[in-house]
Amino acid sequence: MEVLEDKSTCCGCHACYNVCPKDAITMKEDEKGFKYPVIDKEKCIECGLCRKVCPVLNNEKVENKPTAYSAYNKDENVRKKSSSGGIFTLIAEEILERDGVIFGASFDEEFNVYHTYIENKKELGKFRGSKYVQSSIGDTYKKAREFLENNRYVLFTGTPCQVEGLKSFLRKNYDKLYTQDIICHGVPSPKVWEKYKEYRKEIDKGNLQEISFRNKDNGWKEYNVNFEYDNNKYINNHNKDLYIKAFLQDIALRDSCYNCLFKKKNRISDITLADFWGIENVLPEMDDNKGTSLVIVNSNKGKELIEKIKNKIIYQEVNFEEAIKCNPSMTKSVGMNKNRDKFFDNIDNMKFDKLVKKYTSHNNIIKRALGKIKRIIKRK
Ligand SMILES: Cc1cc2nc3c(=O)[nH]c(=O)nc-3n(C[C@H](O)[C@H](O)[C@H](O)COP(=O)(O)OP(=O)(O)OC[C@H]3O[C@@H](n4cnc5c(N)ncnc54)[C@H](O)[C@@H]3O)c2cc1C
Ligand code: SF4
Ligand code: SF4
Ligand code: SF4
Repeated sequence: MEVLEDKSTCCGCHACYNVCPKDAITMKEDEKGFKYPVIDKEKCIECGLCRKVCPVLNNEKVENKPTAYSAYNKDENVRKKSSSGGIFTLIAEEILERDGVIFGASFDEEFNVYHTYIENKKELGKFRGSKYVQSSIGDTYKKAREFLENNRYVLFTGTPCQVEGLKSFLRKNYDKLYTQDIICHGVPSPKVWEKYKEYRKEIDKGNLQEISFRNKDNGWKEYNVNFEYDNNKYINNHNKDLYIKAFLQDIALRDSCYNCLFKKKNRISDITLADFWGIENVLPEMDDNKGTSLVIVNSNKGKELIEKIKNKIIYQEVNFEEAIKCNPSMTKSVGMNKNRDKFFDNIDNMKFDKLVKKYTSHNNIIKRALGKIKRIIKRK
């Protein structure tokens, strides 16, 4: 028995792994580096729980009226360290002040990305900032349930499929559970990330201390990728960074991200956070290029949280449809790069820079210049 007949639909949320009463499921990496459930037939008692909690098989339709805000944190320091307007930190602080627990995506010592929890404000930095790699959920759904059963407040944050996976796993409403997802472009493979880290290590030669995918030294829109070492640093505009190039050209994402069931207007989470792309057209007075968040409130719990942080943010309500106009990932999956199979077929035998350069398209400027030259020659 498989949890899902069609592997390509599995988002890797780990709900099946967390629910199995016989520990018959292990999450194993495939050749592309993404984790999928594998059932040990000797241990399985065919109780069917794994299928019951799978959010792909039990995709819930939500009826709600989302409200959208443009917002950013008044604390300039937190805003600078956050990917967009630093709203996540404020929501998390509100739950921590209730003696709550926050779940989110963090780096481990090797800069692999995994889900974990924290119980104090000092550790919030672990979750701050987008990490463009699929985060491994591990047993965090079970841990979240334990805290909820012990009457603790819990804020669970992650991609839309991770939040739906949690809700599906719990199969019960908890008054003290709050959830926050994001508008999600998709998640690149941890194996591709590993290759990139190895490539950087070879070039940069240092003791790696910190990584930021969204360094704002050049502003929010022209963000940099930054690797901080003991004695040097790698900092590069995202358009020139090879890893972000692979991410944004949709060559390294999980299969399920190209046909995502969780991108929709009506969401199960209490709050959805995103970059407010296009803010310069909607509310130019809220665009100082330091990062503006799009905050979508999906439920009464979400509304209550936003009320609590209102004195710590600059905000304005905006028309929902207008707010998501420049953020297609709210509702639509990206198309699969036509070279994706070749990219993954060669991942083990090509150097990272050669691999990305060979299978992604060249700089737009060069492409446009070549197009112009071709047109001139044709006319002549
Ligand atoms: C993989 C990915 C794709 C995204 N795609 C888009 C997009 O297409 N359009 C858009 O507008 N915004 C996208 N975002 C969201 C955006 O980058 C910001 O995370 C969001 O605006 C919140 O910003 P903030 O300043 O409030 O908080 P921040 O401090 O920047 O956000 C931290 C939050 O992000 C979560 N997080 C970080 N990395 C991961 C991860 N790998 N998996 C799950 N959760 C993670 C943390 O748990 C925490 O909740 C994406 C984020 C990620 C991680
Ligand atoms: S059917 Fe039950 S025992 Fe078997 S893998 Fe699924 S949850 Fe585990
Ligand atoms: S529960 Fe999650 S990890 Fe398990 S099969 Fe379904 S989508 Fe995949
Ligand atoms: S695009 Fe969809 S399937 Fe992929 S990580 Fe985001 S929510 Fe999950």
